[in-house]
Amino acid sequence: MDFEAFFKGELDELHKEGRYRVFADLERHRGNFPRATRHAGGEQKDVTVWCSNDYLGMGQHPKVIQAMKDAIDHCGAGAGGTRNISGTSHYHVLLERELADLHGKEAALIFTSGYVSNWAALGTLGQKIPGLIIFSDALNHASMIEGIRYAKCERVIWKHNDLNDLEAKLAAADPNAPKMIAFESVYSMDGDIAPIKEICDLADKYGAMTYLDEVHAVGMYGPRGGGIAEREGLMDRLTVIEGTLGKAFGVMGGYIAASAALCDFVRSFASGFIFTTALPPTLAAGAIASIRHLKVSPFERARHQDRVRRLRALLDKNGIPHMDNPSHIVPVMVGDAAKCKWISDILLDSFDVYVQPINYPTVPRKTERLRITPTPLHSDADLEHLVGSLHQLWARCALARAVA
Ligand SMILES: *Cc1c(COP(=O)(O)O)cnc(C)c1O
Repeated sequence: MDFEAFFKGELDELHKEGRYRVFADLERHRGNFPRATRHAGGEQKDVTVWCSNDYLGMGQHPKVIQAMKDAIDHCGAGAGGTRNISGTSHYHVLLERELADLHGKEAALIFTSGYVSNWAALGTLGQKIPGLIIFSDALNHASMIEGIRYAKCERVIWKHNDLNDLEAKLAAADPNAPKMIAFESVYSMDGDIAPIKEICDLADKYGAMTYLDEVHAVGMYGPRGGGIAEREGLMDRLTVIEGTLGKAFGVMGGYIAASAALCDFVRSFASGFIFTTALPPTLAAGAIASIRHLKVSPFERARHQDRVRRLRALLDKNGIPHMDNPSHIVPVMVGDAAKCKWISDILLDSFDVYVQPINYPTVPRKTERLRITPTPLHSDADLEHLVGSLHQLWARCALARAVA
């Protein structure tokens, strides 16, 4: 086989469909979120980032940066091993306590990313609990799907956020089989929110465990940033809460929070936990600082919601179609892969606005979009510049407008 020709042929297909992924080559500016320098064709220029998952700008927060500097001065660069073999630092232990407290659980267990935490936790639970059936929301994140696949247990996919479909599927399953319902709180691409309470009610009725991915909610919702389940007073009804340290907390890493026995079980049996080098202590230190700050500071959350409301109002005023939802994610709908990429390129080249196009397979075809994530650090002038730029582009390329 001509391997090179095969690779190139497959990539050509992506180019033809307009969904070949191009990374923007950026340097973020310390303490100056959301500005960044973009490198392209040997040139540099400053841009404003509108699609960061550093939702609150905590990756540039002075407390987080200072904590990471202190940790590197204190214990150096790497962890030095897996958690089991010399890789556990005191920062890891403190971070797990901080996370258990955040979610009101007995324990927490950290992983090198949110992806790994879902993959390892779901994979291990599904593999080791005899006869477990996992009921998985149809729009669950790739990391959950991969974890369930790796578990090789029985899995039942229920219609996204559809309680009737979930109940029908729970009722149809063997009443004696152990069950787990796996879902997310805020869904990343549409920004809609699961009916957590009702799902927990069904879990109680059918004796199922619950596994909630709060990756797009931790830090941002709830009085202490514990997520949607905290906001709704439901944390104690969830068996496992999974989160990331890489989005609103601004650094990197993932975790589960659950009972002491469940965390100890995953710690003891998950390959993706056991056989990989621990997070560097610097990252754990940065995460601790970020979580502690957001537990007591409502300022970022309030300002974040204010920016979201303001952006939506400006988009409405200009007839730019966006998907309505109850979260901080603002999907501006384009509905065509090539156009979506074209708009994103012009925004970057001519308006110094960086919004990555979101195309298939991340979202279904014909629902291609710009996924805009305003942060507390975007000013009124930033918002007006963004919407003004979109307004010009909508006029230029005959895109449909929303009817006001
Ligand atoms: C980003 C994401 C993850 C993975 O988290 P990382 O820390 O980036 O690996 C898990 N679940 C959902 C829903 C996500 O969007």
